[in-house]
Amino acid sequence: MARTPSPEALKSLLAPLSDAAIVLDRDGRILHLNPPTERYFNVTVERLVGAPLLDLHRGLGEWFEAHQRAAGMAAAVSPPPNLDGQPSVTAAPLTQADGECWGWMIVIARSERWKAQAIDSVIHDLKNPLHLASSALVMLGEVSPPATALQQEYLRLLETGLERIGRLIERLLAVERVESPTALSEMRRLSLADVFQQSARRHVLSADAKSITLLVERAPGEGEILGDEGWLSSAADNLIENAIKYTPMGGQIQVSVAEHGGEAVCEVIDNGPGIPLADQPRLFEPFYRVENDQQRRIPGTGLGLAIVRAVIERHGGRLYVTSEPGQGSTFGVALPLLARD
Ligand code: ADP
Repeated sequence: MARTPSPEALKSLLAPLSDAAIVLDRDGRILHLNPPTERYFNVTVERLVGAPLLDLHRGLGEWFEAHQRAAGMAAAVSPPPNLDGQPSVTAAPLTQADGECWGWMIVIARSERWKAQAIDSVIHDLKNPLHLASSALVMLGEVSPPATALQQEYLRLLETGLERIGRLIERLLAVERVESPTALSEMRRLSLADVFQQSARRHVLSADAKSITLLVERAPGEGEILGDEGWLSSAADNLIENAIKYTPMGGQIQVSVAEHGGEAVCEVIDNGPGIPLADQPRLFEPFYRVENDQQRRIPGTGLGLAIVRAVIERHGGRLYVTSEPGQGSTFGVALPLLARD
């Protein structure tokens, strides 16, 4: 005969779970539910102990009963029954040591999509306060009498901090946008070589500021690719900005554009610190940064290359890196050339 655990045992069974979880007896009556379930359905556990699951939520109760009728004591992974946030729902039988089933555990896990939407709305909500803080900072810089040298130093620190938060928000939004189905809606024939050449022009001043020589070497070729100019420019900017950021003062960067084997190939070659072999396969993952003393001091988000990868993949192209520590790095983009008109 199956025995139901004590209320304390049920409580500790659910305690480690951060998702909403409900324990039912064999007949589908509620034995216990955890605080995330109370918040999710806006109920209290006391009111529902002993009640059928239908009383907590009709769709969930009907889904569970239908599953029990059809599959007996097998675990169920749902299509979700009309629950807010489109969670994934599982129902698994609970058994005692001799294998006899005494009840069910239902877990309502928030879906990845829900999490992505929540993060998304937080990122959007951060934009307004950041804008307010930046405007207040501008006004503080204009107060009279003028700020003392020490106050100005603090204002500069604040400005740098706000700029970094702004950049992080911008990057997070770019990651989200590039993955949306409507991104890359402005595809047209264009020259990838032009995109990289123009990006190099935009970065001459920042290279100069570090006495870095930034050269473009363009092999003959008039081929075109099908691409979204805005996204490809931001990919080129990311690669050239990284080369400038990680290459020490007085270094050299070459942007090489050419056509090989039916592809437009653009490479950004620097003679900076290089990247250890072990880090190279992970560079394009979101938030991945090389962890060494030299590079940790250089600010960054670890999102730039993840954005570049998403852009290039969505264009059906290849992104690659070759690098040797102490010698420099080459980041390359290859996109299929279109047939000539
Ligand atoms: P971020 O530069 O914001 O940290 P990225 O995604 O653009 O993020 O780059 C990921 C990591 O790859 C960087 O943190 C850095 O360690 C390494 N990296 C990228 N480009 C270079 C480069 N040209 N030279 C050396 N390391 C690089």
